[in-house]
Amino acid sequence: MKLVIASGKGGTGKTTVAANLAVTLAEMNEPVQLLDCDVEEPNVHLFLPPLGTTDQTVRSPIPRIDPVRCTLCGVCVQICAYNALATAGDHVLFFPEMCHGCGGCAHLCPEGSIAEVERSIGTVLRGQVHGLELVWGRLNVGLSLAPAVIAEVKRMAQPKATVIVDAPPGTSCAAVAAISDCDLCLLVTEPTPFGLHDLKRAAEMTRELNVPAAVVINRSGIGDKRVHAWCQENSLPILLEIPFSRQLAACYARGKLWVDEFPEWKDTLRRLWGQVEEYAHERTARH
Ligand code: SF4
Ligand code: SF4
Repeated sequence: MKLVIASGKGGTGKTTVAANLAVTLAEMNEPVQLLDCDVEEPNVHLFLPPLGTTDQTVRSPIPRIDPVRCTLCGVCVQICAYNALATAGDHVLFFPEMCHGCGGCAHLCPEGSIAEVERSIGTVLRGQVHGLELVWGRLNVGLSLAPAVIAEVKRMAQPKATVIVDAPPGTSCAAVAAISDCDLCLLVTEPTPFGLHDLKRAAEMTRELNVPAAVVINRSGIGDKRVHAWCQENSLPILLEIPFSRQLAACYARGKLWVDEFPEWKDTLRRLWGQVEEYAHERTARH
């Protein structure tokens, strides 16, 4: 089972749910991997600092143009969908921060004047903590290649492990990369008009990706009931409501896990996992 925890915006408690659920499952003797795919701002390792971390560099190709062979035909500039190339006078200019490493320019250059060279775009780190394996990615500053680093983080998923993916917030390419190919997506939201607005966008994204979704409402008790009504109208089951609590907020602010400070949360998260499995099986059987 590969469960992704996502949200239409940051600050909903998505990472807290992912970390606490993963630790609870690891205590049930499941082999668990927690993949932090928020590669622009990874933070799960701050709650769960692992021991004995290993890391590996993520690389992506970029073009190197031979100015002697280049005839300035402009083909590479025209085909680059990311505006990473431009002609200026007697040069082709290259903007490395825009390049997505697709290789199209090298493939289509009629003069064969573009070679591909590798560059580092980020790092994937792994370590053991709380009986689970934590894997997280870190994108190099200034690059727009989060999906490539996320793909490398997800490549570490073991087929026999229960895999919890912490997705980046929002509905960007990075969120799409994290949610794609998962068995189920838990959308964490708040019962407020803003929460509903972002939940609608996130739910639409999961529909487009054909990943079944369910909802966790955090800070339940604030706001109104419009999220509940919308979920009912759109057949999105609400699997958990987390009441607004100063104690839980203070626990988060101290960088602690709820399940360490309030062990009764383990029962709640075990029940959530049971519902997740049941819903995933039901969806598989129905389709
Ligand atoms: S496609 Fe090749 S020959 Fe044409 S401008 Fe680009 S590098 Fe030069
Ligand atoms: S590799 Fe792709 S993204 Fe990069 S410059 Fe060439 S065409 Fe553009």
